[in-house]
Amino acid sequence: MNAPLLTIVIPCYNEEEVLPETIKQLTVLLDELINDQLISEKSRLLFVDDGSKDKTWSIIYKHGLKDNKIKGLKLARNAGHQNALLAGLFAAKNQSDCLVSIDADLQDDIAVIREFLMRFSEGFEVVYGVRRERKTDTFFKKHSAQGFYKLMTFMGVNLVYNHADFRLMSKRAVEALEQFNESNLFLRGVVPLVGFQSTSVYYDRKERMAGETKYPLRKMLSFALDGITSFSVTPIRLISLMGFVSFLVSFLFGVYFFYLKFSGQTQTGWTSLITSIWLIGGLQLIALGFIGEYIGKIYKETKRRPKFVVDIDTFNLGVPEDVESPKEGEHLVDYNSLSKSN
Ligand code: UDP
Ligand code: MG
Repeated sequence: MNAPLLTIVIPCYNEEEVLPETIKQLTVLLDELINDQLISEKSRLLFVDDGSKDKTWSIIYKHGLKDNKIKGLKLARNAGHQNALLAGLFAAKNQSDCLVSIDADLQDDIAVIREFLMRFSEGFEVVYGVRRERKTDTFFKKHSAQGFYKLMTFMGVNLVYNHADFRLMSKRAVEALEQFNESNLFLRGVVPLVGFQSTSVYYDRKERMAGETKYPLRKMLSFALDGITSFSVTPIRLISLMGFVSFLVSFLFGVYFFYLKFSGQTQTGWTSLITSIWLIGGLQLIALGFIGEYIGKIYKETKRRPKFVVDIDTFNLGVPEDVESPKEGEHLVDYNSLSKSN
């Protein structure tokens, strides 16, 4: 078999601080892999600029002019990590035999990609990068992340424990992924659903080389909520359970109240009355909140909005000659404030 054509897809959002180093390290790796004849010399790096507000795109673009292994895909606005990743995978899949996705901050060990390729050559179509331990994470990140995996398992969602979005997929697997038409695509949950032969490779996760995390608490919570509500109906079942339990409890209370009434101690009613008003009110609100979340999902799905809009695609179309290379500080539009409105 000929050496497979590999595309490494790297979503980047405001990564100007870390990007030059990332490009350097990945280029070196790609060259080594080509030299060792593990991959075809047509293999590429595809950087997806997810509507960054800093110099990310101009860095990608300029490196692309010097080295034709470096390609760029610039999204018209911030679509979020998952969608940026999908944009890259879908743009590159026709010209690739296998695709690796990795974060721009190089927290994941790029040397592991070699092992991904070995597994791929053994016939595995999906190879998950799994973190061995979380030494480099803050206490908060570690526990919130592990809590998330446990919660997801409890909710009945099949996830690969401690696997983020560092993985290899074959062209076929990406094509299958594309058939999942939902707008709220939760990659870590969907990839196992795609099926195909899969395996895991273990590695130690490092600290971010430079720049700050692009996943503040707000985004982490919305990511977790998205993951749960786009995959699991357990919350709805919990509501039914809660409703059942509260019915049972109020039934018992009712018996107790009748007992009080018939034994002549009736003026004690206020406490239990006010408590039950608050209790039922709270339960109803929680229930409405969850139901609302699902209705929100239905609403978004029915709109069938595109998951991303591609602005420039030097991967498929080459570098357009009539376009000047972007000046520093261009793309200062606040894409973030736009993306919040969906
Ligand atoms: N990212 C993105 N769009 C976003 C947020 C993040 O493309 O809206 C990219 C980011 O540039 C990085 C990857 O997603 O390559 C993971 O983000 P980060 O490293 O900040 O997350 P963490 O490792 O802290 O969970
Ligand atoms: Mg990171």
